[in-house]
Amino acid sequence: FNVPTPINEPVKSYAPGSKERDELQQMLRELKQQQVDVPMYIGGQEVRTGNTQTISPPHDHQYVLGHFHEGDASHVTQAIEAALAAREQWASLPWQQRASIFLKAAELLAGPYRARLNAATMLGQSKNAYQAEIDAACELIDFFRFNVHYMQELYKQQPQSAPGMWNYLEHRPLEGFVFALTPFNFTSIAGNLPTSVAMMGNVVVWKPAYAQIYSAHVLMELFQEAGVPDGVINLVYADGPVAGEVIFNHRDFAGIHFTGSTGVFQNIWKTIGQNIHKYKSYPRIVGETGGKDFIIAHSSANAKQVATAITRGAFEYQGQKCSAASRVYIPSNLYEEVKGYVQEDLKSFKMGDVEDFSNFINAVITETSFDKLAKYIDGAKADPDAEIIAGGNYDKSKGYFIEPTVIVAKDPKYVTMCEELFGPVLTMHVYEADQFEETLALVDSTSPYALTGAVFSRDRYAIDLAAKRLTNAAGNFYINDKPTGAVVGQQPFGGARASGTNDKAGSLLNLLRWVSPRAIKETF
Ligand code: GLU
Repeated sequence: FNVPTPINEPVKSYAPGSKERDELQQMLRELKQQQVDVPMYIGGQEVRTGNTQTISPPHDHQYVLGHFHEGDASHVTQAIEAALAAREQWASLPWQQRASIFLKAAELLAGPYRARLNAATMLGQSKNAYQAEIDAACELIDFFRFNVHYMQELYKQQPQSAPGMWNYLEHRPLEGFVFALTPFNFTSIAGNLPTSVAMMGNVVVWKPAYAQIYSAHVLMELFQEAGVPDGVINLVYADGPVAGEVIFNHRDFAGIHFTGSTGVFQNIWKTIGQNIHKYKSYPRIVGETGGKDFIIAHSSANAKQVATAITRGAFEYQGQKCSAASRVYIPSNLYEEVKGYVQEDLKSFKMGDVEDFSNFINAVITETSFDKLAKYIDGAKADPDAEIIAGGNYDKSKGYFIEPTVIVAKDPKYVTMCEELFGPVLTMHVYEADQFEETLALVDSTSPYALTGAVFSRDRYAIDLAAKRLTNAAGNFYINDKPTGAVVGQQPFGGARASGTNDKAGSLLNLLRWVSPRAIKETF
């Protein structure tokens, strides 16, 4: 058994007239007619509570795609019990056997599940076909394949032995269960957080964001078909505090794999701290949280390249990526040119539902998110020191649509330059072209986050200066490229400061967090 370094899953284009496009459109129609009844999955059993909530596409909030069954504290307890019951057998399975399951999951997703998971992501999370393809298909396939490869590397790493002595490192899974709490914005992350933990021999209670349940349910079917045994991954839908109360008070709580907001993560960390005496082991706390990701252009940058990075980096998936560019620093000599290109480019961005593949912009995820973003836009409209140079309109009558909006702020600490908005609203600040170094200091100090960032320049000294001054300002730093779209195996993803524990998703570093090695020495 030797898994070579995988290559990244090729991205399908869904070009007009292509077979894959027809298939995906057909799948969208099928799913819309299905009225799916989504259960929880506990110990491999489908659990229906009768306490149902509707699932609707954010771009058509009156349309009902189906229902899901919400659970309560008792279901979370059952999920923990099912996980613990499965633990011993799963943990003792040779790692090659576990690897086979996830390699099979990759094949199923590359083949028969691809259209269905993409379509579920498109409808449930309002993601266009291309954004769904690079997330739900390619990135998740890569997570499975690369994690198996890294797992193999990890198990190969063994200490020195010597004459008369034999040393061995046993990479045991954690003693207990792990909680995977996953976000709405990437189906691949929702798939990766429970499976990367399970792959290392752990058992999991998985609670997805409510806005992602439609595709989470397809993921669960994929895991089962790939051969994940009953109880190894348990999928529950329960209110956050209700689930937290059960999980963080449990003696066998062994870790959390989290992607979501900084506020929620900090509260979880506090709760774990308060309960630390209750646990058998110190829990592993791994989380990716928010971002206030920057683009800074140097006076030597190519204006068109900067503008393209802005429109793509800020507005793909309606800016709802942790990595999305949301504050931009433009030198005065380039401003007019960048502004022109940005305005021109945005005019070509069509907005609407996901079924029309020519729509680049779809809806934001929920009404709460829509209302919050609309408030910031209204704030900018009313502020004489802020100017809206593109977009600014919004409408929630059919779906939660917000035009890609660009605010230009005089004050580099203007509210939308500082706060994470998580939507299609970008703020730009124009600095004096000879103030690059001072502006780098501003970039570093304006936000508590440090997830992604990009510098644009054709001057090597400027690039080097930015890389040095912004050493801790981003866990993923891009030179002359947009700050989104990290690829598994190429740019391991994650940030520090308020952005997370920086345990790089889809990397050896991340997998190491899910083992608790035993060093064995035998003398002869
Ligand atoms: N990995 C994604 C990217 O590079 C972002 C993930 C996230 O939003 O959490 O764009």
